[in-house]
Amino acid sequence: MINTSYKELLAPLPVSLLCKNMENGEVYANPACLSMFGAERQADTFGNSLVFYDVQSRQPLTAEQHPFSLCNGQDTLHLEVRVKSNFKNLNCRIEGKKVTFDGQPWVVLHVHSLQDNDITGTQTTYSSMANHLAFSRLLSGISSQLINVKTEHLDELIEKSLGAFGEFCGVDRCYLFQFSDDKTSMNNTHEWVAPGVLPYKDDLQNVSSNDLPYFDNTIKTKNVFKIDNVDDLPDEAALEKEEFKRERIKSVLCVAVHINDKLFGFIGCDIIGSPYSWREHDVRYLKLIGEMLSNTLESVTNRVSLQQVTTALEKANEQLAHQANFDGLTGIANRRQFDKSLEKALKRGTRDGKYISLLMVDVDHFKHFNDSFGHSAGDVALQKVAKALDSCCKRTDDLAARYGGEEFCIILPNTNQEQSLSVAQEVMRAMAALNISFEPSLGEGILSVSIGKATQKCDASITNAQLIDLADKALYRAKKDGRNCIASA
Ligand code: GH3
Ligand code: MG
Ligand code: MG
Repeated sequence: MINTSYKELLAPLPVSLLCKNMENGEVYANPACLSMFGAERQADTFGNSLVFYDVQSRQPLTAEQHPFSLCNGQDTLHLEVRVKSNFKNLNCRIEGKKVTFDGQPWVVLHVHSLQDNDITGTQTTYSSMANHLAFSRLLSGISSQLINVKTEHLDELIEKSLGAFGEFCGVDRCYLFQFSDDKTSMNNTHEWVAPGVLPYKDDLQNVSSNDLPYFDNTIKTKNVFKIDNVDDLPDEAALEKEEFKRERIKSVLCVAVHINDKLFGFIGCDIIGSPYSWREHDVRYLKLIGEMLSNTLESVTNRVSLQQVTTALEKANEQLAHQANFDGLTGIANRRQFDKSLEKALKRGTRDGKYISLLMVDVDHFKHFNDSFGHSAGDVALQKVAKALDSCCKRTDDLAARYGGEEFCIILPNTNQEQSLSVAQEVMRAMAALNISFEPSLGEGILSVSIGKATQKCDASITNAQLIDLADKALYRAKKDGRNCIASA
């Protein structure tokens, strides 16, 4: 048993002490410790109700990591932890010592709140100055990270920034909300919670302004919603009171955030369990952080939509370029692309001293085909013919194009008479393989083509028109020779 004289000894001391008798396991918190956490003086169970969290991992300390156990094993202890009580949560430094009193082994912990100089503490002129400096450093640290943030890291960084601010202030929860465009609802976009504090972000999506009318009106008209003690909320804030009680929030500070003079949303922080008198600079700090985060959010959102517009434009341009150069029905090169490619091939052939060949391919009796099977069937046949011709273009620079109507061309750079004949023969075979049944008066029972072909040694005097003219004349002969055949210029 802790004897009364021991309690009497510790009770008046102005430092927060938490002691444990390591033999019988009893824990005692002195009044300074109780009041630091805002607890009732009579609560004997207070010491055992505390939960300690690792600051880095944010996990509750295990039985072995508990300051009492640690100190019991190593005589003295220095530790920084987050301590959660039923009343108030604090970042604390703990110094511990093993002592023997009245023949019994004890561990005595001196619990020192690290929040004396910030949002939850009292301030002297000096510490206020130091605090402002520390805040400036925090702000510039956050802003330098936000400046170059990549889109995919934005959410993570905003939550990290809220965390840095939340830890700096020692609050329990820190969050950013964005209003819908019509300002009738709000979304909790980002949230940080202290170790051991329940996150509420997922619950707070698409919250209607009608659900929190007092809050909504205050933040929109006064820009600040500052509640030192939720119990003091006026009657018209019944819905808010209920919501805060549900989340065990005792003290709230929210500041509206504007971007380009337009209401964007608000940033806020909560203190759970105990009331707190928010001060002028708490509001200023919060507003600064809120504006910085929202500006980043907005500029990245703009950047993303700009990127989306640019991508859509690039795609539209690509489509336009494709439409300009390719035939809508058959998908192969159109006349425009054919002209450009032939000119280029002639120039290149002239430079390299090569031959060039051109095949002009015309579908036989196609008017009759249309008349027999209809225009749509004609279209399908033309698509098949185009595909067949394209498949005969084996080299990279070979090009099959729709010259017009049921007339096609194949450009064969660096191809002589003999080679061009073998390509023309391959076209005939490809047409036979299509096996499109058609019985014109002079046909073979399937759709066929006639080919006029021209081969020239490239030189600067040869033009597109001359080569086309030669192939066209050959084609005329092929038609005259009975169709479904090849004629050379
Ligand atoms: P020839 O053997 O002498 O070449 O006879 P032809 O009937 O093929 O020649 P003609 O020039 O008299 O007719 C060509 C036909 O091709 C007429 C036209 O309706 C058809 N045609 C042209 N373009 C298209 C098209 O995009 N779709 C369809 N279905 N038919 C087309
Ligand atoms: Mg024809
Ligand atoms: Mg024709």
